[in-house]
Amino acid sequence: MVRTVPGRTDRVVVVGAGLAGLSAALRLRGAGREVTVVERGSGPGGRAGRIEERGYALDTGPSVFTAPELVADTLAAVGEKLEDRVPMVPLETTYRAQFADGSHLDVHADPDAFAAEVEALCGPGEATALRGYLADLAELYRLQLSTFIDRNLDTPLDLLGPQLVQLARRGGFGRLSRHVERHFTDERLRRLFSFQALYAGVSPYRAIAAYAVIAQLDIGAGVWHPVGGIAAVPRAMAAAAADAGVTLRYDAGVRELELSGSRVTGVLLDDGDRLPADAVVVTVDRPETLVPGFRRLRRPVYSPSCVAVHVGVRSELPGQAHHTISFGEAWREVFAELTRDGRPMTDPSLLVSMPSRTDRSLAPEGGQVLSIVAPTPNLDRHSGGNPDLDWTTLGPRYRDEVLAVMEARGWTGLTGAIEVEHLDTPQTWAAQGMAAGTPFALAHTFGQTGPFRTPTLPRRGPENVVLAGSSVQPGVGVPMVVISGRLAAERITG
Ligand SMILES: Cc1cc2nc3c(=O)[nH]c(=O)nc-3n(C[C@H](O)[C@H](O)[C@H](O)COP(=O)(O)OP(=O)(O)OC[C@H]3O[C@@H](n4cnc5c(N)ncnc54)[C@H](O)[C@@H]3O)c2cc1C
Repeated sequence: MVRTVPGRTDRVVVVGAGLAGLSAALRLRGAGREVTVVERGSGPGGRAGRIEERGYALDTGPSVFTAPELVADTLAAVGEKLEDRVPMVPLETTYRAQFADGSHLDVHADPDAFAAEVEALCGPGEATALRGYLADLAELYRLQLSTFIDRNLDTPLDLLGPQLVQLARRGGFGRLSRHVERHFTDERLRRLFSFQALYAGVSPYRAIAAYAVIAQLDIGAGVWHPVGGIAAVPRAMAAAAADAGVTLRYDAGVRELELSGSRVTGVLLDDGDRLPADAVVVTVDRPETLVPGFRRLRRPVYSPSCVAVHVGVRSELPGQAHHTISFGEAWREVFAELTRDGRPMTDPSLLVSMPSRTDRSLAPEGGQVLSIVAPTPNLDRHSGGNPDLDWTTLGPRYRDEVLAVMEARGWTGLTGAIEVEHLDTPQTWAAQGMAAGTPFALAHTFGQTGPFRTPTLPRRGPENVVLAGSSVQPGVGVPMVVISGRLAAERITG
């Protein structure tokens, strides 16, 4: 039996209007609770942020949007349809993978088109391997979703069952790098199916093969573009919540949770207001800063961080894809630099997104918006990061370097065409209170995944405070935090 919050839970306060908080709020409202969301920022979204300037709309958080059905399910909790709030466009080309040898591979959502592309570039043997691998990924994901991801886990014993055995039989606990090497001989395909380990904050040389499933979310099941950009998603969730009767308070930072015995009875805001509460959902990055008695994991390992350069450019940049993974020549070294040596990548691999390629509402006529995300070490030495990197001076230099790499890899004329620009570095995330200066929270090492990651109802701390967001189960990224909101709500509603 999953543990739940005992006693009255009529009035719930949700701290944070990011995707996790909004997901929890919609579920709770759907189950008839009186819900107030308090957010210190001036609008919804949290890490899924938005800057609008001179006609350019820059999404400053996630760029790769997967599993829209999870948001659809969340909206359905209050009787709403996703398509009425945010139309979703499936991308025909999930990614363009650009390699250092000058070749590129378009990853198509249609498996036949993808296999044909692989056959043309890597030969018929690899195309056959691809078909087998994609089928395997889908099955691995199905096994993991029900065991590890889509449920509240209180102890490792909750995992025991036939599905865990099947996962072990399929090699899910070996190394991801070896798993991929066994299936593919072409180095380019090996990279394409292992770079996603970085989304989980681990090197493919250390990650267990079970994380291969992250490639099911993007390459297997496809990537979508929410019309109006990714920020349209939290905005739609907030609007649906408000229409369903949730109270949303912005510019309302929470200072303290008021404890009475083993329960929190009120939420104190920075402006002195007090909101009475029967239960509280906390979605902040570091729950230990707010929840009395909560203990974080011992010796936590955090994911690498990133430098994100967001630009609006007065240039068409013809021929570029919506999402490009631009691989450098270096690979093993990249992970050593990011997760062991605490050094920025010397030969960077970058994720470049140009959503205005699909959605012209995001840029003025003749312009484009781009997000360039370069993974960097975080600021925590124990996690292989580097607290001595001074991003105040390093940030602008690194931005210049990244743009020079982009020009050299085919985005000719990009730098000179920039009209608006925004730069985030590990220092930005640290200033926002995120642990280790990373927006990607605790890494998905084996010891910080599934039942070993902080549960949505911690064992220590007040009995009526539940957690959601990327620091807790199931983990990091839009699909996971949306699920975490549901899991948190279920701790309250039963
Ligand atoms: C550059 C970047 C790229 C990314 N790329 C992807 C991607 O491509 N795909 C993907 O799936 N994911 C991606 N992610 C990760 C994804 O954005 C996050 O995992 C997710 O948005 C986290 O949501 P959350 O609700 O848990 O946290 P948050 O969005 O951080 O929400 C927490 C909220 O709590 C508020 N808050 C904090 N303290 C208080 C307080 N004391 N009082 C009141 N409110 C408070 C914060 O202001 C914030 O709004 C990316 C993130 C970044 C930054």
